[in-house]
Amino acid sequence: MYQTFKPKKVNHFIKTIPDNIFPIQIDWGQGNKPATITFSDGRFAFGSCIRCANPRCIEYTQDELKLPIFKDFPADQNNNVCPTGAISWPHESSSPVINSTECINCGLCVSRCPSKAIYLLSDHACINDTANDCFIEKLEVSEPKITEYTLSLFTGVVENGVYLAESDVVFANFYNRFVEIAKNQSAQFPNHLARNLLIANGVGAAMRRRGDTNIRMDLVLGPPGVKQGTSEVEFGNEVLDAPRNILDNIAVLVARYELSKDMIVPVIVSLSLPNSRSEYFRFIQDVSKVLNIKINSITIGSLILLIWNRAKINFENGEELYIDETTSSLRPKLETILGRPINLVNGGYPGFLDSAK
Ligand code: SF4
Ligand code: SF4
Repeated sequence: MYQTFKPKKVNHFIKTIPDNIFPIQIDWGQGNKPATITFSDGRFAFGSCIRCANPRCIEYTQDELKLPIFKDFPADQNNNVCPTGAISWPHESSSPVINSTECINCGLCVSRCPSKAIYLLSDHACINDTANDCFIEKLEVSEPKITEYTLSLFTGVVENGVYLAESDVVFANFYNRFVEIAKNQSAQFPNHLARNLLIANGVGAAMRRRGDTNIRMDLVLGPPGVKQGTSEVEFGNEVLDAPRNILDNIAVLVARYELSKDMIVPVIVSLSLPNSRSEYFRFIQDVSKVLNIKINSITIGSLILLIWNRAKINFENGEELYIDETTSSLRPKLETILGRPINLVNGGYPGFLDSAK
């Protein structure tokens, strides 16, 4: 359940980085601990919460959610970063807290923290709020400009390591927890999660307001990462209908938004890839041959893997994640994006990278 954050009532003292130093390198290692930051004077320190006035780990600004090319799309304005509501800021706490039983370890909050204070254990995220030599507590109430200043100091700084190293055990664990946590989420959860994961992967996205019957598509996609696109999000067996539904989306975008079909990037987001012999892949192949439309596929686990590696998806050709009956595996596509082999012997959880035969 979401706990609404009310900034005006929070009254906590900030932490700041001393004026005479700035970060020059960030090392995440293999995860399981806060990032180690090297500063310009040679000191090292763990990333630590600066207690932002407008916490980026909790909320997007409305500007971050805008997609100007789809300004008439009935977008859901839900600006929660955490799709499960696991992160909140209780008034008695000096910093946000994460409810480990609701956290799916997606890394969304980690990717947005300006001071690298959030880190991933093998199954949930944690926030480091301990002051140190380089993150000093001050008897001042936080202001947005302090968050912005810290963010500017960290922008462009070299980062090494990963939020969390992938392994078959980690992803099997993720899947089991995810299935349980997802049972208690609202009907908008799949779209909310997919939208936020795509944004973190560098693809602008907006999700349809539930109850709006004018337009059926789950997400529209826009810059950066893709010029324009549409997405269907399905976590269950309904994924088999997603290729047909996404053709409907394209027809609507061509008819109502006057977009060219050749410029629209279609992306199906699922929890698992369907069976390789299913109609899903055959239909995608037929559409490619007959209509020259390349329907891309991506799984939730793959999007999370990319976030853990701070990777970005760039749909330059519009078919970067296209797979069909002949190549029903995301592994080579993701390895191209990551620039390295993926260390999963059994493919993580079922249907995460490879579809079942
Ligand atoms: S965890 Fe990070 S983003 Fe969240 S309030 Fe602390 S410093 Fe800001
Ligand atoms: S890692 Fe994901 S699920 Fe966990 S608190 Fe952060 S945003 Fe929420």
